Amino acid sequence: MNILLGSSEIQPFSKTGGLADMVAALGKYLGEAGVHVGMVTPLYRGLLEQYEGIQRTERTIDVSLGARIERARIYEFQPSENFTIYFVEHVHFFQRSGIYGEHSHDYADNAERFLFLTRVLLKLTFELSWKPDLVHIHDWPVAMFPAMLRQALAEGTVTEPPKTLCTIHNLAYQGLFPASQVSLANLDASYFTPAGMEFYEKMNFLKAGIVYADYVSTVSPAYAAEILTPEFGCGLEGVLAERKDELSGILNGVDYAEWNTTKNKFLNFSYNIDRIAGKAKEKKQLQKDLGLPVEPKVPLFGMISRLVEQKGVSLLIEALQQSLNHSMQFVLLGSGDPELEGMMQDLQERFPDRVKVKIGYDVGLSHRIEAACDFYMMPSRFEPCGLNQLYSLRYGTIPIVHAAGGLRDSVIDEAESTEKATGVKFHDFTSAAVLEGIYRGMAIYKKPASLRSYRRRAMEADFSWERTAQAYIELYRKILSE
Ligand code: ADP
Repeated sequence: MNILLGSSEIQPFSKTGGLADMVAALGKYLGEAGVHVGMVTPLYRGLLEQYEGIQRTERTIDVSLGARIERARIYEFQPSENFTIYFVEHVHFFQRSGIYGEHSHDYADNAERFLFLTRVLLKLTFELSWKPDLVHIHDWPVAMFPAMLRQALAEGTVTEPPKTLCTIHNLAYQGLFPASQVSLANLDASYFTPAGMEFYEKMNFLKAGIVYADYVSTVSPAYAAEILTPEFGCGLEGVLAERKDELSGILNGVDYAEWNTTKNKFLNFSYNIDRIAGKAKEKKQLQKDLGLPVEPKVPLFGMISRLVEQKGVSLLIEALQQSLNHSMQFVLLGSGDPELEGMMQDLQERFPDRVKVKIGYDVGLSHRIEAACDFYMMPSRFEPCGLNQLYSLRYGTIPIVHAAGGLRDSVIDEAESTEKATGVKFHDFTSAAVLEGIYRGMAIYKKPASLRSYRRRAMEADFSWERTAQAYIELYRKILSE
């Protein structure tokens, strides 16, 4: 089976969130399962200097962007057997310090930048030395692919098309652009209608993906159901409902080769279920390094996140203002909305001995926080899959989550099964519910035997990518057989 993936991010080369982790692992584990995999992604600034293995090739690709022709050069990198990444170089579009924007502002030419990437993906689909059976596109940046493919078929410029699968990692990001930019897509006027990619007179990339792909998927079964409702459908619930027979969810996996507690270059100590002492040492070290009082018996709560409304940050702050009057500590690593960053810093000022806020992006520190904490907070309003709760489970850090999307699918609450409980789930999206979640965490912490059982079950939970990759292979087979 030959699969070509398209994504605007891939870890470790480029990452703003879970998408990057997911596509990197998908490529790797599909390859390990014997699938021939390619991935098309931009060559962002600094990658050539950082990764010697990225090789310049003689392949250049010219594509139309409105009335202009733009040229890409292809670079190649092979992270593992069966898996090749095709990096698309375009100095003006991609040699920038951000992926989608800088200083909380999107780049003004994002429509052009990602239509260009998608056109290159289309050309490569038919020009590679191997023939993809299916092109699997991820999120809005490459979601115009199926529409472009369809038009190319209608024009007769290509034959024997691959099937297409569009995976939605977060429906809240749709790639909405003014109608004045429609001509950049070089699509027939018939695509820009409410039945196609038009969304209230704007061009909507993700909607085009949903309408024109052979199949649509999301990153958890619960989210696949939620997005059919007005509450979570972000205005596309009707369009999705029309595709509901070709829509399903597959929970992301964890790349345990990266996210583990025994062979991890970011951690100072190694630990596992049977030798848990290293976890307490990590806690002590983190408290020391962050300047928190070194108190092994005080429960440490943590969060690593983009600071955006979706993640429930303001509710968490309200709840913490109450719970921090009790004995606990809280660490946050994150960045995003300046207002939320400021609110977190205010909280730190109010509780200097109990709160540490690190504004920034730091992969090493994120592993250390996962390992050091007793509890991990994830009060997201919605969460397509969520990765940090999965990492937390493996690190023996009990997740306290709002029961939405992938959080609902991956954490087991005592109310569902006392013998299987791995975390705490709350159902209302209110600060009172978050507070109650924190108090339930504190209650678990007070009973060492209960804490031990939660940790054991959490650490034993298996979200390995082998399983996720197998689920995608089955889905690919199904799509290919139709
Ligand atoms: P989303 O994709 O919505 O941001 P996920 O939970 O799916 O949320 O994935 C977030 C990923 O980004 C995780 O790997 C998380 O550790 C990482 N991450 C988020 N913020 C930071 C940060 N400030 N520093 C390091 N890693 C971060």
